[in-house]
Amino acid sequence: MPTRTYRPIHVGTLASGTELILPMHEIVGDRSGPTVGISAGIHGEEATGVEIVYQFLRRQDLSSLAGRLLVLPIANPFSYAAVSRGTPIDMMNLNRVFPGNADGFLTEQLAHKIVEGFLKHLDVYVDLHAGGSTPTVDYVYIINAEPLSRAFGSRLLYRPKETLMGTSISVTRERGIRSVVVELGGGRVDQSAYVDRGIQGLLNILRTLEMLPGSPADPPSQVALREIVTLRPHHGGLLLPEVTTMGGEVRSGQVLGRIVSPYSLQELEAVRCPFERGVIVLTHLTPSVVEPGIYGFMIGNLATAEA
Ligand SMILES: [Zn+2]
Repeated sequence: MPTRTYRPIHVGTLASGTELILPMHEIVGDRSGPTVGISAGIHGEEATGVEIVYQFLRRQDLSSLAGRLLVLPIANPFSYAAVSRGTPIDMMNLNRVFPGNADGFLTEQLAHKIVEGFLKHLDVYVDLHAGGSTPTVDYVYIINAEPLSRAFGSRLLYRPKETLMGTSISVTRERGIRSVVVELGGGRVDQSAYVDRGIQGLLNILRTLEMLPGSPADPPSQVALREIVTLRPHHGGLLLPEVTTMGGEVRSGQVLGRIVSPYSLQELEAVRCPFERGVIVLTHLTPSVVEPGIYGFMIGNLATAEA
């Protein structure tokens, strides 16, 4: 049987006297194999990934595991508790400060500890993100491990020209660690279908790596996008979405949603599809109170996508 060990990474003591730790779990199989790291909650408001990890470790039979899993269910406990994208004490975005700084701001110290205690030790890395408190998202990045990204099983994939500086992936890619970034779920809708897909996706990756018996599920017919635009509204107010089918097609000029003022009762802005043929990567599935500059919609360009 695999051995399971709780290996918390100690970060420091807070003014409240609380110890700030990163809750890392290690599962070592009886047979040899690669070390796969799974993290969630780098952005604390993306709680779906955290639930995927929890349910995966609770439900999945790992008795015949080969190799080793290092799992960080909540990479930023503070921002998770506050349901916030940034770390409350310094309001920095953890996924913009990697590889961190041992002597820097708290968020930079956190990133440094994650690199030293977790990322450095991996052969394969899966990072789970989600849409956040109000938007819902559904795609997987192709970074440097296309077969693993495809194996996860989402229909939409994204091959960016470059990866953002300061992300955990910028560290693993530089070290040649095969990396998959998943964007799945979020928003004020039932998350259970996303959680189920996340569990299946992790299983598919581990089966592709032959760390668990059985064949990975056949992925759906997939579209690899080369271009995704993020549409951030210029006004705050009540966002009334008009496109609520994840992965659905939209046409040039089509209204994706409207920002209205519940004060003046007027429409402040209509957000429209900028591409001739677009596909919905991120949207709001329910009316939501928003501020200017939030993730309103993400639309992929089907004209430049790989078939
Ligand atoms: Zn995120």
